[in-house]
Amino acid sequence: MRLAGLVIAGAALVAMLLLAACAPDATTVRDARETLGTFVTVTAYGADEEAIESAVDEAFDAMAAVERVLDVYSADSAASEFNMGAGPEPTELALIESAAERLEVGMWFSVRLRDVVAAWDFESGGSIPEDSELVAAMAAGGFDPGGAAKGLALDAAIDVLRSDPAVTAALVSAGSTTLTFGSKPDGGLWRIGIEDPREPSEVIATIEAEGGITVSTSGDYQRYFERGGERFHHILDPTTGFPARGLRTLTVIGATDGLDSDILSTALFVAGKDAAESYARDSGLGLFLIDDSGRALGVPDPNQRFTITQD
Ligand code: AMP
Ligand code: MG
Repeated sequence: MRLAGLVIAGAALVAMLLLAACAPDATTVRDARETLGTFVTVTAYGADEEAIESAVDEAFDAMAAVERVLDVYSADSAASEFNMGAGPEPTELALIESAAERLEVGMWFSVRLRDVVAAWDFESGGSIPEDSELVAAMAAGGFDPGGAAKGLALDAAIDVLRSDPAVTAALVSAGSTTLTFGSKPDGGLWRIGIEDPREPSEVIATIEAEGGITVSTSGDYQRYFERGGERFHHILDPTTGFPARGLRTLTVIGATDGLDSDILSTALFVAGKDAAESYARDSGLGLFLIDDSGRALGVPDPNQRFTITQD
């Protein structure tokens, strides 16, 4: 009797597994390509593999289109032409500026730091600019959309995937920003790891969410150089032109879209621990940060769309 029960239960389990394997939403397409100056991964779920693959291709095309406009490291992008006075302001730049204004982060976030970033020379090993050089660079005010471009490009990708009926759920990630939409067909949670800022191959915290989520991290370990034991990194305080002090890494969770998310991680990194915490609490955002003494602070989601677990 007991044995028969087990056999029946076993048969039911096998049938369920077979059903899961044949479920109409069982196909997963994963692709990783070099774009936006980094590796971008797309994972898309649905039923029709060929149709999902073509949606994923389109998503990469959409990101490449944003990159072509905003890449200030390429002399013939629309943003570079605008910087040289040889073209109109691209709408993507105006979009970033108006989002920063709407989010009221102008004290901490500026798209006019191109010459200041160049003065620090992060690309070729780094150098500490003279005060006069920094003053001139801050006055020059060239456009650098680097604090928000990935978020904007990932929005374009996720829009393509969301509007394609072949795709039921997807995750796009450029490392520092990750967006998802829909729920994973196996009923599992989306899991997004936050890197240890002093051991970036290790995960120090994990975000878990059932549905669509946005996660962005800004850190002092992504582009930096050291002089005399001091770390000079790429997230600059727009009021001084110097690297923002006080934090090693900051992650914003639950912003409306990739653009807001990317702007907010950069801005709140500059804002520092206390201002970032009150901004997150006032705006209903999740937050996870590590300060310069290695202490962690988390602000949970008031709406319970996601959890943050420190590993
Ligand atoms: P993220 O990794 O999104 O925080 O962006 C950092 C990049 O944004 C830097 O490499 C610069 O190109 C640019 N950036 C640096 N400081 C700022 C700032 N305060 N506001 C806006 N963009 C910035
Ligand atoms: Mg950013």
